[in-house]
Amino acid sequence: MSKQDLTNLPSAGDAPPAAWQAYSKGLTEAGPAGSEPARTEPKDVWVFVEQHGGKVANVSWELMGKARELADQLECKIGAIVLGHKVDSVVAMASANGADLVYLIDDPVVAAYRSKPYAHAIVNLANKFKPEVILVGATSLGRDLASIVATELDTGLTADCTGLDIDPETKNLRQTRPAFGGNIMATIVCPNRRPQMSTVRPGVMAKPKKLEAHDTRVIREPLGLTEERVAAKVIELLKEQDESVNLADAEIIVSGGRGTGGADGFKPLYELAEVLGGMVGCSRACVDAGWMPVSRQVGQTGTTVRPKIYFACGISGAIQHLAGMQSSDVIVAINRDPNAPIFKVADYGIVGDLFQVVPALTKIFRERLGRNGAGAGISAAEIKKDFLGEVPPGVPAKSADAKTSGEEARPQ
Ligand SMILES: Cc1cc2nc3c(=O)[nH]c(=O)nc-3n(C[C@H](O)[C@H](O)[C@H](O)COP(=O)(O)OP(=O)(O)OC[C@H]3O[C@@H](n4cnc5c(N)ncnc54)[C@H](O)[C@@H]3O)c2cc1C
Repeated sequence: MSKQDLTNLPSAGDAPPAAWQAYSKGLTEAGPAGSEPARTEPKDVWVFVEQHGGKVANVSWELMGKARELADQLECKIGAIVLGHKVDSVVAMASANGADLVYLIDDPVVAAYRSKPYAHAIVNLANKFKPEVILVGATSLGRDLASIVATELDTGLTADCTGLDIDPETKNLRQTRPAFGGNIMATIVCPNRRPQMSTVRPGVMAKPKKLEAHDTRVIREPLGLTEERVAAKVIELLKEQDESVNLADAEIIVSGGRGTGGADGFKPLYELAEVLGGMVGCSRACVDAGWMPVSRQVGQTGTTVRPKIYFACGISGAIQHLAGMQSSDVIVAINRDPNAPIFKVADYGIVGDLFQVVPALTKIFRERLGRNGAGAGISAAEIKKDFLGEVPPGVPAKSADAKTSGEEARPQ
């Protein structure tokens, strides 16, 4: 990575150039009357890199992968926004994940997240460098930040996108997301304002392949805001109580639905997850019933997951649940109703009682792996092999309705 600081540029805290006001509308006022006003020249696709004490949220790198596709279509560069204090390692990671430019504000005031200084930093960077697109992870921090930045920049924001691409004719960003309770997919454009802003949930986009050597230009900017001007103070940072629940990054998830019948019904699912080195998730029905915490909910209003293998046990397959797990590499559905919609997206379907099937699977994997609770490292391919090779007697190997080609069956 080559580092290069820009000099003689106005600081982010300076009054923005006159052109910025037109920028946020995406149009100059210069066009002759009656003609299409000429566009200013917003450029580049930016990704906000969310970091906490130097640890970066995976969704930021997932967005970097999507940003590369968009930038290739727009023939522009990828810019990473890095805010924090002593975050050189984050800059290096941004470079390794494909950033052509890193906009770095290194200041103790932005060491920990607070809405005002973070929004101030991004608004000033955007006004000065005029990105075409800003992508932000739909984490709790990202949701807070993106909405403030979009309001300050007087531009549009599409939250919780599941698809992003460029309209080949207009070059506008097409932002696709579920609407009306997940019953339709809406594609939203923001033709008259810049930048175009989207949030995307963790796990929706694929991470880019890391680049070994990438030529990245680092643009250091001052924050232009002192601690005295920030009303909110960070007294102490408390770790999340259930820090172990990070479904978005899990490679194997064993999820339960209302078919588990209650909190106790999750016991066999925990045992299977333990043997496989996976995590336990659930449908919203189980959260609503108070059986499981919301941190384990998968779906449209829960976490979006993309594991290598997803076991859906006693889950019917409502569209809102599918919205959060249909990008899983391999889906295994266990349901006693052969007509359950989950079988339409499953790669492997087992029609049966989860209280028989799940312990039987646990037994098989325990024997195959020769260990208990140390399953990390098992591949989806191994699991597929085990499924196809050895299904316990009395358990139907596959539902007649189950699709063997998940790609064909999954809703788009
Ligand atoms: C705006 C909105 C957002 C939503 N967001 C989400 C979300 O993020 N995530 C989510 O999951 N849902 C969400 N929902 C709820 C969703 O619509 C469904 O109600 C929910 O997913 C159903 O959960 P379920 O599949 O566990 O339960 P059910 O639909 O009741 O299905 C239970 C299944 O278990 C099977 N079963 C029963 N007993 C057994 C057994 N012993 N062995 C095997 N199978 C058995 C049954 O055949 C059935 O198919 C949302 C709804 C709305 C309106």
